[in-house]
Amino acid sequence: MKKGTLFILSGPSGVGKGTIRESVMAIPDLNLAYSISMTTRKARVNEKDGEDYFFVSTEEFERAKANGELLEWAEFVGNQYGTPKSFVENLLNAGRNVLLEIEIEGAKQVMQKCPDAITIFMVPPSFAELENRIRGRRSEPEEIIQQRLSKAKREMKLQNDYKYVVINNTIAKASEEIANIIKHYS
Ligand code: 5GP
Repeated sequence: MKKGTLFILSGPSGVGKGTIRESVMAIPDLNLAYSISMTTRKARVNEKDGEDYFFVSTEEFERAKANGELLEWAEFVGNQYGTPKSFVENLLNAGRNVLLEIEIEGAKQVMQKCPDAITIFMVPPSFAELENRIRGRRSEPEEIIQQRLSKAKREMKLQNDYKYVVINNTIAKASEEIANIIKHYS
């Protein structure tokens, strides 16, 4: 059986990766599975354990790391995030395409381990728009917002490391563009 293709979607915090990912996942015929990450971050009000993330304690995260259960991991604004390895491998071996929505440090690790992965970087129409979106969540204190904004500025510079750059002008357009990339490699 033909193995599936691994896709990495990165982009600065607040660019709308989560929304676009949901929209892409709803498009039929992409044979696409989403890799649910593990994080030590607290769930936001609208997030569900086992759907958006596996929300775990620092001890559980450290154990998964020590046992070699993570394909990659990174710290992001004080919390740990990682991709469970066996889930991704099983799906790829079963012929499914797999989408990772991860930040750049983790993406670098996957690019090294899986050089065939197709990398996509999403950018906002403008930085002002990005700030609006991060503030619009109203879920985090100013200090964290400032950290996310300065991190986003640094992250934007790394888009050249990715094969594709997609501008998130509208949800429909950006998801169609990503869907076309996925179809191209299916
Ligand atoms: P958030 O707290 O906004 O959900 O996520 C913060 C950042 O962590 C986002 O850029 C998101 O893409 C990234 N992220 C989510 N899951 C993972 C993961 O498993 N590994 C890595 N390296 N980054 C992740």
